[in-house]
Amino acid sequence: MSDIVIIGAGVVGCMTAMELAVRGANVMLVDRADAGGEASWAGGGILFPLLPWRYREEVNRLALAGAAGYPALAAELHAATGIDPEYSVSGMLVHPPCDMAVAQSWCAAHDMTAELQEDKLWLPQVAQVRNPRLTQALRRWLQEHGVRLLEHTEVSGLKIAGNRVAAVQAGAEMLAADDVVVTAGAWSRPLLGEHAAALDFKPMRGQMLLYEMPAGLLQHIHYQDDFYLIPRRDGHILAGSTVEDVGFDKSTTATAARELHQKAVALLPQLHGRQPVRHWSGLRPGSPDNIPAIGRHPVLKNLWLNTGHFRYGVTMAPASSRLIASLLAGKAPFMDASPYAFGG
Ligand SMILES: Cc1cc2nc3c(=O)[nH]c(=O)nc-3n(C[C@H](O)[C@H](O)[C@H](O)COP(=O)(O)OP(=O)(O)OC[C@H]3O[C@@H](n4cnc5c(N)ncnc54)[C@H](O)[C@@H]3O)c2cc1C
Repeated sequence: MSDIVIIGAGVVGCMTAMELAVRGANVMLVDRADAGGEASWAGGGILFPLLPWRYREEVNRLALAGAAGYPALAAELHAATGIDPEYSVSGMLVHPPCDMAVAQSWCAAHDMTAELQEDKLWLPQVAQVRNPRLTQALRRWLQEHGVRLLEHTEVSGLKIAGNRVAAVQAGAEMLAADDVVVTAGAWSRPLLGEHAAALDFKPMRGQMLLYEMPAGLLQHIHYQDDFYLIPRRDGHILAGSTVEDVGFDKSTTATAARELHQKAVALLPQLHGRQPVRHWSGLRPGSPDNIPAIGRHPVLKNLWLNTGHFRYGVTMAPASSRLIASLLAGKAPFMDASPYAFGG
């Protein structure tokens, strides 16, 4: 049984740990703060690209494979931990502008139901999860399945010997491992430092508003012009989000709050005069064309990456974690991993 250290306990790190633990590895998952407290907490949990016909197929393949993993994953997490990630097939209504011909032909080619409702497109199969519940459930599952979770422990460097990582400096500890996986989201590039090679990733801030409304007021996800409203089961509505290139600055801004609120009211007039109960931001792991790096480091033979999922990390995580677990085990992956190769 191999010893594996995973650096970063967002959804990607947690699901990677889960996949490896199921395969019998000895896993240690390290995070400098609480598990699941960064982008994976801040996100919206829509399990679908916005909108897939605007993305390369490498993005959509991984996203659709990830989304397809959720019904079983959510059921397993709920049954094993008692925490319900609130997987819901709430459907998404796309408001104009939308190139209906392109959208419908993409949906037809991908076996997705798409119905025209006057000037809108109804996508009934689009699903969502509730991020904080998902990460809490993952955390509990890992603890109950023998994964050693080291929270509040920052990884400050990698000790290199030849073409291998000999150990990971985690807080005061030096952790030796057979393999090391970097799943540090927006921080993966600074973490890798001189070993980041051609990794052209950067943080991309997203701000979100939360409203407390009566349950059932909004039934579906509504999308318009890169803005969305997401209804949770208890009536909370998320309104998001911005995509801002401002480095590692996680502050929220009054301008974004104003703009998001205006867009929210335009889509759901009942929000007029309502104050959001919360406003937050998170840093997405931005990657060129939204294509993550999933695979082995080009030089350091026992160093692996599963990072850079940008806008769709929650959606992609089940698939990208299965991919990295297969690659680590030297097994043929369930889908072609070459588009995501580090430097590929
Ligand atoms: C506003 C917003 C809306 C979004 N909406 C959606 C959506 O609807 N659907 C979707 O699929 N995706 C969405 N996303 C994107 C998604 O949230 C991210 O792609 C995903 O969470 C990335 O997961 P991750 O595990 O790679 O990163 P993170 O969740 O950021 O986790 C990285 C972890 O690494 C840890 N770490 C960093 N450096 C170190 C270190 N040196 N030592 C130890 N630990 C370290 C951090 O503490 C953190 O916990 C959204 C994101 C935002 C911000």
